[in-house]
Amino acid sequence: MNQQAAQTDVLIVGGGMVGASLGLALAATSLRVTIIEPVLPGSGPQPSFDDRCTALANGSRRMLETLGAWPAIAPHAVSIQTIHVSDAGRFGSARIEAAALQMPALGHTAPNRAIGAALWQQLRSHPQVQLIAPARVIDARMDADSAQIRLLTGSGSDATEQTLVTRLVVAADGDRSLIRERAGLGVTELDYEQVAIVANVVAERRATSVAFERFGAAAGPIALLPRPDGHYTVVWCVARSIAETVAGQPEPDFLRDLQQAFGWRVGAFTRVGQRATYPLRLRRAMQLTGQRTVVVGNAAQSLHPVAGQGFNLGLRDVATLAELLAAASGNGADPGAEELLASYQSQRLQDRAGMMSFTDGLVRMFALSFPGAATLRSAGLLLFDALPAAKRGLSGVSWGFGARTPRLLRGMPAGSER
Ligand SMILES: Cc1cc2nc3c(=O)[nH]c(=O)nc-3n(C[C@H](O)[C@H](O)[C@H](O)COP(=O)(O)OP(=O)(O)OC[C@H]3O[C@@H](n4cnc5c(N)ncnc54)[C@H](O)[C@@H]3O)c2cc1C
Repeated sequence: MNQQAAQTDVLIVGGGMVGASLGLALAATSLRVTIIEPVLPGSGPQPSFDDRCTALANGSRRMLETLGAWPAIAPHAVSIQTIHVSDAGRFGSARIEAAALQMPALGHTAPNRAIGAALWQQLRSHPQVQLIAPARVIDARMDADSAQIRLLTGSGSDATEQTLVTRLVVAADGDRSLIRERAGLGVTELDYEQVAIVANVVAERRATSVAFERFGAAAGPIALLPRPDGHYTVVWCVARSIAETVAGQPEPDFLRDLQQAFGWRVGAFTRVGQRATYPLRLRRAMQLTGQRTVVVGNAAQSLHPVAGQGFNLGLRDVATLAELLAAASGNGADPGAEELLASYQSQRLQDRAGMMSFTDGLVRMFALSFPGAATLRSAGLLLFDALPAAKRGLSGVSWGFGARTPRLLRGMPAGSER
């Protein structure tokens, strides 16, 4: 092992969906930016850029455009024109239509792998962002003047230990964040006792531009997202106690159970690919900043995927932080200054709290099991279907709950003049 010190302004720990986006957002500033990521996209199983398909809000798509990543994602993306919401075995259902709301699209879906490849391809075209991968952070210490980050590059006897000194460390290392823990930021946790089973499925009716959300007390919520090859990605949330059995079944049994839970809106399910499972909990950092530290994305909050909002929210973390850092770099200010961190924390409060309670509220509403609850939900869906204002409100959720939309979501670079 050899020891070596280096210096950077912003060190991003984790080059997943959120960390890579932040690296790109800061590429146009004069800050020295470093990203540390253990698994290079395309080189092996990558936890952030796996087989999942992500529903992207319109603001997120615009931000990815501004970051230059969208042209490489677009050929793999599907424009969502309709979202169909229903309650298993009940009469109520609602359709949210882009055309009725005079919107070009309600959002897009794109495979995480394509998003990762596009973000990293863009990052490589910005030599001012230093990419250290594969490398893993193994320890960190923060004090008033700097953060010292210990990392291991390589593996086995070839592993090299290094310490980097930075003015600001950004934790983008996911929901079990080491940086969050080393910064002494506590978390609260709500275990949904559910597991999301994610797989690609083929149905009799090819996927077009319709996404489906199916709720049902027994089966748990199911989202069916269209893929550009005409197949679907299914996200099926089931009770933890049965998750292993359901996910591990032979293909015909899995398809039969999925059919029973989802119904026949896309005809018969005929094939299913590899199934991956994700335990579901709402884990949130009690504070977003510590000494010389900011937490973003899943390191700050991991949500239930029922509303497909975790990454969208993480991108708004990125857009807000990038804007503050771009302004600081323009003024020659310290990127890890307490005032900047306090400003970040206060600007993220409203959107974050709004999205966490919206998502949690959906999970609870559709899990209610008292007599008459299903009828109430059905009535709610029917009412919702008849109320354009409610639908407009829901489609607006994708812009966030904050009072102000950050520049990157409005199509402007983080740091340019208004
Ligand atoms: C089933 C499911 C479906 C979802 N669907 C949607 C959706 O449709 N729309 C949506 O907006 N959101 C969705 N989400 C949420 C979304 O996937 C997450 O919000 C997003 O992946 C968070 O990205 P992240 O980069 O913050 O964290 P992660 O994806 O967890 O990435 C963390 C990164 O940090 C790296 N890392 C970890 N430890 C270290 C270390 N010690 N040193 C250096 N690097 C490290 C990892 O290798 C990884 O690359 C879904 C989530 C699930 C579980």
